[in-house]
Amino acid sequence: MNIAFIGLGNMGGPMALNLHKAGHTVQAFDLSTSACEKLAAEGVAIATDAAAAVQGAEVVISMLPASAHVEALFLGNGTQAGVLPLLPAGALVIDCSTIAAASARKVADAAQAQGVQFIDAPVSGGTGGAIAGTLTFMVGGDAAVLERARPLLEKMGANIFHAGAVGAGQTAKICNNMLLGILMIGTSEAIALGVANGLDPKVLSEIMRRSSGGNWALEKYNPCPGVHENAPASKGYAGGFGTDLMLKDLGLSQENATAVKASTPLGGLARNLYAMHSIAGQGGLDFSSIIQMVGKKD
Ligand code: NAD
Repeated sequence: MNIAFIGLGNMGGPMALNLHKAGHTVQAFDLSTSACEKLAAEGVAIATDAAAAVQGAEVVISMLPASAHVEALFLGNGTQAGVLPLLPAGALVIDCSTIAAASARKVADAAQAQGVQFIDAPVSGGTGGAIAGTLTFMVGGDAAVLERARPLLEKMGANIFHAGAVGAGQTAKICNNMLLGILMIGTSEAIALGVANGLDPKVLSEIMRRSSGGNWALEKYNPCPGVHENAPASKGYAGGFGTDLMLKDLGLSQENATAVKASTPLGGLARNLYAMHSIAGQGGLDFSSIIQMVGKKD
């Protein structure tokens, strides 16, 4: 199948590569030259721009930072033309970015007006899951469109959930990430408390992982350097899931909570803590670096 893949960052790069390895014809594009070079080195074809990438594509997959990038890619903005008008009727758009549900619906409506199918399919599972092809997809859109997309999603993920109509995948995703953001801060606090009392973070983490405090951070993504060899914490908090991306997701969950009059006090507190961490200059580090805010500095 001919696939255009736009956005080759920490997540999109390995996802596009998995589609390429599965035998699909992938035309990829990213604004970052180094992101393109990484994929080119693996044999993936790189287009000169997004418009060139979607030429002849039956499916367009996007993995971009935030709502503004996705809207600009498909619908255009003051400075760039959108690629949606370039797609023939019957094409399929799969947006895997984490964006506002309202933005997903806006792109879906424009797509529908020209006979193009759309699903929002944000993911969970981190860069490890993207590389291994074991991501969880949370899909919003028609069940029949999901079935059309499923064979491709199965090359990038292990769990595929239909959350509901267009936008529902995004709503599920921000609920999950609000919980993840809170859990990472709680996990960091607990480890920092143990370390301040002289406990070995590896031993404490293993005790909590197998006890009632067990969670995904303790399983796979420990915020303390040296506990999980492949976690961003053990690589200077490079790669992974940026603090600023977590801040964006907690902003989305807080905006949504305001809109539906839900009470999310810990989500609000977590958003502010990641904002302080970002303002302190750590926005580009993986979000697990939040442990630096709560840990003892000596
Ligand atoms: P990233 O910053 O590593 O990659 C984003 C890429 O998009 C960059 O390479 C950037 O150059 C490119 N880009 C931006 N605008 C572009 C445009 N107009 N055209 C082409 N390329 C453009 O981010 P990421 O970690 O890969 O995350 C991507 C999305 O996935 C975000 O919405 C994020 O919230 C979500 N997400 C990330 C993770 C994670 O663990 N990193 C996990 C789940 C979901």
